[in-house]
Amino acid sequence: MSAHVLKNPAVLAGTLAVLAALFALFATLLDQGQLLTPVLGKAAQTANYLHEFTHDGRHLLGAPCH
Ligand SMILES: [Zn+2]
Repeated sequence: MSAHVLKNPAVLAGTLAVLAALFALFATLLDQGQLLTPVLGKAAQTANYLHEFTHDGRHLLGAPCH
């Protein structure tokens, strides 16, 4: 992908939307404390706040959880 393509506002908006959706899917379905580790350190691994917050949704969607 060249810089010329990203100057198109529609392509840029679409690319950002896809990246935001992938980030949301990772945070909701796959995160095991990695996203909060830079902020909370080891507490993010043991408390696992995002996992607990999205736990019921993971089971509802059949995502790997335990
Ligand atoms: Zn679970």
